[in-house]
Amino acid sequence: MPEGYCVKCKAKKEIVEAVEEVMKNGRKAIKGRCPTCGVVMFKILGGKAVVPPPAPALTEPVAGLPSPASNPMPLPAPEPGHHPAPEATPNPSNP
Ligand SMILES: [Zn+2]
Repeated sequence: MPEGYCVKCKAKKEIVEAVEEVMKNGRKAIKGRCPTCGVVMFKILGGKAVVPPPAPALTEPVAGLPSPASNPMPLPAPEPGHHPAPEATPNPSNP
């Protein structure tokens, strides 16, 4: 019979009516009752992913330090037909 910590008795108790369950994250757990007070006890089995990682994974790139392999910013191509000089010249080839 598995054992668990009863929060009501504040002691380690044997889990009665233990039923093994699989949680949504795939881990197994045992759900049962305290033999003394009857409170529902829940014990998670398998200590693989129980302890969170000590430090978050550095997945984000360091800001302000773009890698040299990154795409250089392309220069904006000049739009044709958008000249600063007015095109309303009556005779441009006038000597
Ligand atoms: Zn208890």
